[in-house]
Amino acid sequence: MLAQDFRRLAMNQAAIAAMKEPSDDDAEGSTDTEPSPVNARPASMDLDPLSRLLRKNKAWSAARAQEDPDYFNKLLNQQAPEYLWIGCSDSRVPANAILGLAPGEVFVQRNVGNQATHTDLNCMSCLEYAVKELKVRVRNIIVCGHYGCGAVKGALKLPSKTTNLVNCWISDIRQCRNEHRSELMALPTLEAQIDRLCELNVLRQTFHVATTSTAGAASYRSRMDAFNAYMNTMANDT
Ligand SMILES: [Zn+2]
Repeated sequence: MLAQDFRRLAMNQAAIAAMKEPSDDDAEGSTDTEPSPVNARPASMDLDPLSRLLRKNKAWSAARAQEDPDYFNKLLNQQAPEYLWIGCSDSRVPANAILGLAPGEVFVQRNVGNQATHTDLNCMSCLEYAVKELKVRVRNIIVCGHYGCGAVKGALKLPSKTTNLVNCWISDIRQCRNEHRSELMALPTLEAQIDRLCELNVLRQTFHVATTSTAGAASYRSRMDAFNAYMNTMANDT
């Protein structure tokens, strides 16, 4: 039922895009005046951001269908990812893209600061569904952090009494900072402290995953004891 709804939504979006998008012919045919640097731009540059996105989606789906006419039917009828990825919402660390995996190959949970606290119903239900329903092996659960993480920077720099939701959300990372205060304070620069806290945070979140009843029970049943924590290095972080 969910898959049908998803397909219907995609079809609706394509229909909306078709209504909104000016065709290349329209763009050319409506130009009675002398070409100028502005109206010489590609028609796609004049679309609003959502329309550009829908156009990209149509191009992507057309390319997939051309490669394999049965691509979407296969995707629709099967979800059997080998991996569960718990990562940061940071737009620079999209799981499928940086792992080189296609849709259907990795089940993904992302949030600010790649956290997996036991009180996070979203993450815990995702973990339970991945292990119990999708049969993702516990050793294939990946918690991935990244250097230059804004959530970690906030946990180091943001005053603890700052009144916003992000400050509340990063409280577990701030707790991690407090528990490793002496180690962090011994580092020479703020950047070094941020990098180290990024590493400590991903280890902490991996420990959270390993100590859930879901992962523990699955691990016991299958005698698997491997839990994975990774850091992703990005050049030119700001
Ligand atoms: Zn981050």
